[in-house]
Amino acid sequence: MSADIDAALAVDLLIAGAGPAGMTAALVASLEGLDVLLCEKSEQVGGTGSTSAGTLWIPGNSQSRAAGFDDSAEQADRYLDALIGGGTNRSLRTAFLASGPKVIDYLSAHTDVQFLPCGKHPDYRSNMPGAAVSGRAIVPVPFDGRLLGTDFARIRPPVPEFMVFGGMMVGKADIPRLIGRFHSMSNFIYSAKLFARYLVDRLGYRRGTRIMMGNALIGRLFFSLRKRKVPILFSARITNLMGDAHGVTGARVTVGTREIVVKVRKGVVLATGGYAHNKGFRGAFMPQPVPVHSMSCEDNLGDGIEIGQRLGAATAPAQSTSGLWTPVSIVPRPDGSKGLFPHLVLDRAKPGLLAVNSAGHRFVNEATSYHDFVLAMFESHQTTPSIPAWLICDAAFLGKYGLGVIYPGHRNPRKFVDSGYIARAQTVHELAGKIGVDATQLRKTIDRHNKFAETGTDADFGKGETELNRFNGDADHAPNPCIGPFSKAPFYALAVWPADIAVSTGLATDADARVLGSDGKVIPGLYACGNDMASVMAGSYPGPGTTLGPAVVFAYRAVMHAKSTASSQKGD
Ligand SMILES: Cc1cc2nc3c(=O)[nH]c(=O)nc-3n(C[C@H](O)[C@H](O)[C@H](O)COP(=O)(O)OP(=O)(O)OC[C@H]3O[C@@H](n4cnc5c(N)ncnc54)[C@H](O)[C@@H]3O)c2cc1C
Repeated sequence: MSADIDAALAVDLLIAGAGPAGMTAALVASLEGLDVLLCEKSEQVGGTGSTSAGTLWIPGNSQSRAAGFDDSAEQADRYLDALIGGGTNRSLRTAFLASGPKVIDYLSAHTDVQFLPCGKHPDYRSNMPGAAVSGRAIVPVPFDGRLLGTDFARIRPPVPEFMVFGGMMVGKADIPRLIGRFHSMSNFIYSAKLFARYLVDRLGYRRGTRIMMGNALIGRLFFSLRKRKVPILFSARITNLMGDAHGVTGARVTVGTREIVVKVRKGVVLATGGYAHNKGFRGAFMPQPVPVHSMSCEDNLGDGIEIGQRLGAATAPAQSTSGLWTPVSIVPRPDGSKGLFPHLVLDRAKPGLLAVNSAGHRFVNEATSYHDFVLAMFESHQTTPSIPAWLICDAAFLGKYGLGVIYPGHRNPRKFVDSGYIARAQTVHELAGKIGVDATQLRKTIDRHNKFAETGTDADFGKGETELNRFNGDADHAPNPCIGPFSKAPFYALAVWPADIAVSTGLATDADARVLGSDGKVIPGLYACGNDMASVMAGSYPGPGTTLGPAVVFAYRAVMHAKSTASSQKGD
């Protein structure tokens, strides 16, 4: 389609943005017999989705049920009521919960977008009523990128910090086997096979083709779109809508250096990934001081929200931090650039790590969810400088569990000290001096925490008390899998900052993802999903897959709604 673009096209549905939301919308539209065009601003599909962990939160999904995990929409509804409150977004939540399992079954039945149950993967407020420990999260089945041939290069790769040997993806299940490769013959054979496959891959491709997590989700969506020959325009940026608050009739799209007009018979779906790299929106929606780091795809400039607003669209939710957050450390890369490493699950909950602010005080249960960890940073920062906060540990911890980009089992942390990634010291006093933290208080904090390690009870923050804490801790460590001693030098410290992995403020919609104007009325023919849509969770983070689950479900609902509307006069 790219060679000879008609100066004026007419389609049923125009989808803007080829992340998980837009690709799902395009795929469903094609399956439902609509004439669809997917426009992607960059040269690659995937957006932030391709760098994500790829988990979807779908309460009551049939994949988990088949694996023996019991869950229901009613239970999840109770949980969301407790977490978010009964009044906020309720109709959208009901629609999400009712459609979720159906949408996943639909994709599984008709496309190569296939999922596996995660099994145990606790909700992030696992002590609230209705929260689940297992059965709500699903992940895409790993994908063989070779099936895409030369199109494999069209998939946005994960961030370099998530790959080893310069291009090999490693899943959570691979890590213990790779680390223990010399401890058992089966681990050795497993690791050798992975490595051999990677070496062969590199003869023909720029990175490993055994892809997983968010990259597999995108690979599977793209493969399915290609199989159905859905037209995708690359370097195609939606810049404006045609029509008015009474109805959208088309859009303007800049393709390379050319502007084209695409008329629509049923509507436009905005899925441009939200506003994460738009400074104005960050300033307007996020807390002060405005966080500077984002893990979102750099092409996400808030285009969807901006062009929706030009047509009178409203944004929501009114009260939230407007982001879904993780603490990140800043990684100096060999080429001089800097990467961001998200401290999601690997290190914070392990026994022997403390998080402190500049006064040397703990301010949070270190094992809480990444989102709640950052909310605690924001709160602590209001009274004591806590951005950055410091993750501190001793040498035994670093060797056993790793820290950030330093993987477990790493034997020589020196290069990370030399690059400035971590600070190292022989005494607590010296460490405090190196990171600018109150030394006397830091000593007191560590002594108190060491007592908690003996008793197994964190009297200050309850670390290790929830299923989520213990899930990410070390099950072999007693008496508390999340609390261990900080005792033997050398000692290490790593700065962490807040960064958004997704944004929660977006265009206000109804339960069919139809965009609402500031008068609360639907703007006919305009839909938003993914991060362009105001989060159905209203800025809360219930569990693993909080953004991808709704992105896929509301993409489906938007298309089904558009399909049900009469093909209007709009485009023709
Ligand atoms: C490290 C990390 C891990 C994560 N893990 C998870 C997880 O496990 N589960 C979960 O639920 N969420 C996770 N997330 C968040 C999740 O990736 C995002 O919420 C999700 O990708 C948003 O999907 P989207 O389709 O809205 O946007 P994106 O995936 O960002 O895609 C947007 C696309 O739109 C394109 N675009 C932008 N502007 C235009 C325009 N004007 N015209 C046309 N195209 C445009 C972009 O180039 C991009 O390709 C994670 C994020 C990160 C960073």
